[in-house]
Amino acid sequence: MKTSILILYQSMDETWNKIAALYQFQCTGCEDNCCKSLFFHHTHVEKAYLRHGFEQLGSDKKNEILSRAENYCQQTFIKNETGKSRKIMCPLNEKGRCLLYPYRPMICRLHGLPHEIRKPGCSPLTGKGCSAGRFGDKAYITFDRTPFYQDMARIEADYRQTSKKTCKMKETVAQMLLSP
Ligand code: SF4
Repeated sequence: MKTSILILYQSMDETWNKIAALYQFQCTGCEDNCCKSLFFHHTHVEKAYLRHGFEQLGSDKKNEILSRAENYCQQTFIKNETGKSRKIMCPLNEKGRCLLYPYRPMICRLHGLPHEIRKPGCSPLTGKGCSAGRFGDKAYITFDRTPFYQDMARIEADYRQTSKKTCKMKETVAQMLLSP
């Protein structure tokens, strides 16, 4: 599991870096920090990998993160099962740095750049990229996320079969850290 997801993550990072360089875009942090976005993750395999990274941390750091994760969930899911974005910082972000950067999920890796996603028989879905990149002023450079999503779906299907985790998954990073 680890090897295949590692290869996929590496490929995402390389592609993202290559396209960001073509735009001459460097993420240096911004007011509209993407680590404050309410992202839900849908793959058990990514949760297992993130938790594997979390297990490498010392117990004090783990407790600090879990306390932030509990606070995150309390604020995000108040009387609201689906959750509402309150622009709360992800519990893994400390002083602008992701404490589990090598283990971060796919959406954290692909975020920021203008992109497209293709589904058979449908027009491509497109994303504009983050405001910090001012991509509206620049010509679009093709960034098709589809092959990454397809590879992740295959890796997830294999993982579900071997781990017997078949239930639907929709969790924030905070929830992934709090539940086994
Ligand atoms: S996992 Fe890391 S990169 Fe993703 S939102 Fe949290 S701090 Fe940011």
